[in-house]
Amino acid sequence: MFTSESVLRVAVQKSGRLSEKSLDIISQCGIDFNNGSRVLKSRAENFPIEFLYLRDDDIPGYVYDGIADIGIVGRNEKDEKGYDVTVVRDLGFSRCRLSIAVPNSFAYTGLADLEGKQIATSYPNILKTCLKDQGVSAGIHEISGSVEIAPAIGLTDAICDIVSTGSTLISNGLKEVEVLYRSSAVMIARETLAQEDPEKQKILDRLLLRIDAVMRARHYKYIMFNLPSDKVVQVKQIIPGMKSPTVTPLLDDNWSSVQTVVQEDDFWDVFEALKAIGAQGILVTGIEQMTL
Ligand code: ATP
Ligand code: MG
Repeated sequence: MFTSESVLRVAVQKSGRLSEKSLDIISQCGIDFNNGSRVLKSRAENFPIEFLYLRDDDIPGYVYDGIADIGIVGRNEKDEKGYDVTVVRDLGFSRCRLSIAVPNSFAYTGLADLEGKQIATSYPNILKTCLKDQGVSAGIHEISGSVEIAPAIGLTDAICDIVSTGSTLISNGLKEVEVLYRSSAVMIARETLAQEDPEKQKILDRLLLRIDAVMRARHYKYIMFNLPSDKVVQVKQIIPGMKSPTVTPLLDDNWSSVQTVVQEDDFWDVFEALKAIGAQGILVTGIEQMTL
């Protein structure tokens, strides 16, 4: 139980692409809460945080104004709104890109082809900055949704929109020609939080410690295998960077059981190399939390 009076207010998207993953990462931190879909606010049961369920557009402003203390939002939304808030963590999920797309019939050769053209977008500020950086001047039409139909209805020559798989573009007869910006979900906090309320900053630090452990664990696998004992010395060469693996002798003196942690990106190389030196019964599991 906590005794502090302070409660950190966390703004998360009420319903949309970020909602589930935002709450998932917090619940993996061992924090319990109820989130009925109709509630606007809820309090965690075993950690001093309270959730505010909001539209993602409102999250940067509410964090800036102090209605919420921290929030989880797409980096695109944070940069578009332009409030001075601090990105305390890149959470790595909901990856997407902000791209220029043009009708298939547009013989596009480069950004200079957009000079004097009209572009529809929900991200006028990011687009304006990117065009300015590239020295292109084009008309920007701000629309709040269904941007991809703008060329077909004769509103604009091109669009600038969020893309993840690209299938929406294809089904609207558009081709992606330029990636302007890459985004993922970020945790933002008010810049002055620590000065305003050191207690809340302490709660945030505790939360970040847990989030880091959860995110680190996502990149690793725990593996166990049996190996002829005379091959055990080779394991350290196959799995670099980790402290010594745990080695337990098996009843049969010639064999040992080995347990260690492997980076997910290296996993298949390690797996093949272990097979090659005679590893058997390789078991692999995910890790929930991990500290260094
Ligand atoms: P709200 O009703 O809260 O305003 P929204 O419709 O503006 O929601 P969503 O479509 O739920 O927003 O997207 C939220 C965020 O998810 C985006 O700002 C972006 O960071 C990220 N995202 C990831 N992939 C995509 C995608 N394919 N299309 C749109 N956004 C995506
Ligand atoms: Mg929105």
